[in-house]
Amino acid sequence: MGVLCAGRRRARPFTETNADLLTTLGQHAILAIRNAWLYQRERETVAQLRQVEQMKSDFFSLVSHELKTPLTAIRTATGLLLEAKTSRPATELRLLQNTERNAERLSALVSDLLDMARLESGQMALSRQAVEVGEVIQEVINVLRPLTEAKQQQIAVQLPSTPLTIWADRRRLEQVLVNLLSNAVKFAPERSEVTVWARELKEPLAGKEFLSLPSVLVGVSDTGPGISPEEQAHIFERFQRGSEQRPGGTGLGLSIAQALVELHGGQIWVESEIGRGSTFYFTLPLEEAP
Ligand code: ADP
Repeated sequence: MGVLCAGRRRARPFTETNADLLTTLGQHAILAIRNAWLYQRERETVAQLRQVEQMKSDFFSLVSHELKTPLTAIRTATGLLLEAKTSRPATELRLLQNTERNAERLSALVSDLLDMARLESGQMALSRQAVEVGEVIQEVINVLRPLTEAKQQQIAVQLPSTPLTIWADRRRLEQVLVNLLSNAVKFAPERSEVTVWARELKEPLAGKEFLSLPSVLVGVSDTGPGISPEEQAHIFERFQRGSEQRPGGTGLGLSIAQALVELHGGQIWVESEIGRGSTFYFTLPLEEAP
């Protein structure tokens, strides 16, 4: 690493004490230099990693933006063709419906990728307003009705008698609920019941003392296959798709939900047991409108 030289103007031997002192000094210098060097290298690695993350986010947003326009054109065209009052042969109709369904899936993937890129680069801005949680839950249930009807499922809602009003981004809260409820509906068996509830949380929950209080606590429960403890540990990571995958899933839904909840100052977690279903919980701080 280097050489530490000590000399004298006049020829005279170094005493043992001189030598000891110089050796100790040298050893201290080595440690300090090595630490500084390691620190520098660490900082360079962190900077490089940040740059790679940024490039990846930029790439995602560029690709997603570029995909959006042609996809919108495809969806509009198929939509118009399907709406047209012309009678079509059954195969043609099936092909058109197939195109529409797949274009919709692609478009959902593109918007998930865009949201993820925005969340990761810190460019997702919340547009907060006073939001009544029960109202948003009801809206999301209506949006998901085609899915629940197809599986003959019920969604039970449990809300307190007084409205729960929070200061939040309504569209983003909807997105969190759509992600959680659509997972619950998809993983729960046919003719089963999914439950969604919300209540005010004033006292700390056992084992969750880090939650900010007062908050609104929302739970979404299903009687699906459940999630093993190993999978639970990674379930909120990007592109994480556990053993219970479903076609069309991207493994982004839960990571987006987590990032959105945390952006609001809340927390999200899951409790589940194999064979007994899952409950996803999230909190949102009960703040007064500024
Ligand atoms: P995906 O779009 O693949 O569903 P998510 O991030 O929403 O992505 O979920 C990731 C994985 O977590 C899923 O592939 C599935 O294995 C598991 N998962 C999520 N919700 C449930 C649930 N309610 N029951 C069982 N497994 C679930």
